[in-house]
Amino acid sequence: MSSENAHTVPDFSATLSFEGLELKRDKLTTCQVNLGLVCNQACRHCHLSAGPGRKELMDLATIRQVVNFVKDTDITTVDITGGAPEMNPNLPELMDLVAELGKKMILRCNLSALYDQDTGNIQERLVRHRVNVTASLPSMNKNQTDGQRGDGIFNKSMDALKRLNDLGYGDPESGLELDLVSNPAGAFMPSPQASTEKRFKQILREKQGIGFNRLFTFANMPLGRFENWLKKSGNYEGYMTMLYKGFNPCTLPGLMCRNLVSVGWNGYLYDCDFNLAADIPLGNSPTHISTAAPENFLNREVAVGTHCYACTAGSGFT
Ligand code: SF4
Repeated sequence: MSSENAHTVPDFSATLSFEGLELKRDKLTTCQVNLGLVCNQACRHCHLSAGPGRKELMDLATIRQVVNFVKDTDITTVDITGGAPEMNPNLPELMDLVAELGKKMILRCNLSALYDQDTGNIQERLVRHRVNVTASLPSMNKNQTDGQRGDGIFNKSMDALKRLNDLGYGDPESGLELDLVSNPAGAFMPSPQASTEKRFKQILREKQGIGFNRLFTFANMPLGRFENWLKKSGNYEGYMTMLYKGFNPCTLPGLMCRNLVSVGWNGYLYDCDFNLAADIPLGNSPTHISTAAPENFLNREVAVGTHCYACTAGSGFT
């Protein structure tokens, strides 16, 4: 944690102790694979500061280590993220290897990369392997989305959603799931999930003829490019205080770090993708996937930082 964070709000671990709580791992069910920090966009809210200028990509040897790690375990889901995972030429191989294991797959995409970068028959593989697509779409407002993600991104996102619908995604009958993730444009909490989902469904259906399954709303993480923006715009103190004051102990049982491990592009492990961004290793002890055993994760203490307040504010980030 930076010294600036320490001045703003109490340590997250101190708040847990004060509340008589602890954050320990439960059964490991999800392996999240960060294929790298290369992205076709450079979004203002990105906690990983991913973008076109980054070079970090997971290589094939590490991908094979990931597959070895998850096979023959209780891990049910492989959750693929980035950067834009489509920018890693090894994505098709990973998808095929995970499909052979019979594990559920999630592809987290920014929509425009799926639209622009489909060099490895990704869309065909999504359908063949029945991959859940979880797509980020901050807003239904074109100017807000383009302001946060870059000019022209809103229209590309709409085109990508239409293509996914054409493939059967978002149609309850097809079983091909298309979920959306929305985050606020600035230093405030997201609107309630249920009403936002209803509004997105209505507007997308009426204005664009687009359907999807579920929408998740999340607070922006005070890390990476969003942290820089908060500091430059003078919003950092106020944002952290708002998250701290919103601490809700009821969110703890559902936190993703209890059941998920995040694998960084170089094979090092983290309790979640946010800890990866903050460079806080799994359980505060650097561990490479080549030497890790999923059966040893149960009851291990989760490493925490001040950013964890974004997961525990209000109804939480699970
Ligand atoms: S950032 Fe959230 S998911 Fe990650 S360790 Fe903290 S509470 Fe858990």
